[in-house]
Amino acid sequence: MAQPETQPNPARVTVLAGPTAVGKGTVSTFIRENYPEVWLSVSATTRDPRPGEVDGVHYQFVSPEEFRRMIDAGEMLEYAVVHGQNTYGTPRASVDAAVADGKHVLLEIDLQGARQIRETLPEARFVFLAPPSWDELVARLIGRGTESEEEQARRLETAKKELAAESEFDHTIVNDEVERAAAELVRIMGIDPTH
Ligand code: 5GP
Repeated sequence: MAQPETQPNPARVTVLAGPTAVGKGTVSTFIRENYPEVWLSVSATTRDPRPGEVDGVHYQFVSPEEFRRMIDAGEMLEYAVVHGQNTYGTPRASVDAAVADGKHVLLEIDLQGARQIRETLPEARFVFLAPPSWDELVARLIGRGTESEEEQARRLETAKKELAAESEFDHTIVNDEVERAAAELVRIMGIDPTH
């Protein structure tokens, strides 16, 4: 029989997805820095590092050729082209090892990746990070200032489709405040956020 949703299961993988610019990266950075009990997967990506991003910490930055090799070798648990541009994926071996160790595993990935995980790891827990409002999402995307106008427009198109997917998820967290949203997420994962 399936376990009730409230029963914590440490070895269960949690997927955090949500529209672009909702603050998934900020929430996962907060979790990386404040909840060492959470094991955060390091994705591989073909995009270039942004200022301050460290290879092996924020992402594993790889060439398109290396990414293709990883896919062909079956090393990716999921992967997707995000915003029609770069490829991002979750390396399988490190996630398998963390699950085998009984760790609280968190994957911060896009919607396409979340759908693939639903196929390959149906027992995973799916959490949708939502913006307080559409206007707030637009403000965050433009305020970040890291993308060109053309790229911002492309990402907003993606975000509209992604917002419509909320009902596919087990839980929704509104990212009104990073610290609060992070605490709600770890509680869902079965961790006491007050330690
Ligand atoms: P950014 O380029 O802003 O770091 O990330 C762009 C998007 O890629 C975000 O929506 C992020 O969730 C997604 N992403 C990051 N890592 C992965 C991954 O391993 N797999 C998938 N499918 N998406 C990812």
